[in-house]
Amino acid sequence: MLLYAPIYLSSYCINHCRYCGFNNTRQIERKHLGLAEALEESNILLRRGIRHQLLVGGDAPHLTTTEYYVEKIAAMKSLGVSPAIEIAPQSEDSYASMVEAGVCGVTLYQETYDERLYTLYHPKGPKSSYEWRLEAMDRAARGGIGRLGFGVLLGLADPVEDVAAMMDHASGITREFPDRTLAFSLPRIHSAPRGFEVPYAVDDDLFVRLYCTLRLAFPRAELVLSTRESRSLRDRLAKICITQMSAGSSTSPGGYGQPPSDEQFPITDHRSVGEVADWLEDEGFCVAWDI
Ligand code: SF4
Repeated sequence: MLLYAPIYLSSYCINHCRYCGFNNTRQIERKHLGLAEALEESNILLRRGIRHQLLVGGDAPHLTTTEYYVEKIAAMKSLGVSPAIEIAPQSEDSYASMVEAGVCGVTLYQETYDERLYTLYHPKGPKSSYEWRLEAMDRAARGGIGRLGFGVLLGLADPVEDVAAMMDHASGITREFPDRTLAFSLPRIHSAPRGFEVPYAVDDDLFVRLYCTLRLAFPRAELVLSTRESRSLRDRLAKICITQMSAGSSTSPGGYGQPPSDEQFPITDHRSVGEVADWLEDEGFCVAWDI
């Protein structure tokens, strides 16, 4: 079981995703980390043992540029971190620059493959382009990224159809780039900004079955589970099919070293990294700290 944690770099975002706490219309305290602040977060996680760190940023083209990320990736790499990215879709050249700086993977959720609903949930901003997002995995692979992380946001559309479409998408990419590692994640909406009602709620049983389906369809893929889910469900899924879990996470920029600001979504499993690692080892897992 690989343990990882996100580092939120920026909560500035020009998109209007209706379900997201960082969406442009929300009056929240926004933060954008400079290099020193980002490295402080990275060092805190390193002291907890976390070397696989996922850099997360909102979509603010004037702030979160390719150069902004390249600087952070290179500096973290020199600390001994294996940085991955969960940021807005990039051009092939941008992905290639990040590979050169040392990025090891990309996570990019299509959110939903139902194009009509996608348009409804993403009314304004660059993310309103369904195609630009859909084709990003192809650009990331062409740019040389070795680990490609797919996902849908459960709750937005029919979950079975969305997971089936995601599997088709990943199959197409892996046919063209058979040397890449695939990863899948099924984030589920538990709470959303006021006014957004989850239209397709997914219960725990279906949630587990969807992960099992991914395991059966892609026996060698990484299956990833975040701290959005409860301790009991995470522990259960760890024993079934998950291979990668976040631990001790913060979902606000600077959230490890500074007083907490507004977060993108609430954490449900509040165990520390050490507590999760101890539980895994007690259960007989080999805990991995790096890719
Ligand atoms: S989901 Fe991402 S792109 Fe959409 S508003 Fe939130 S941070 Fe911005």
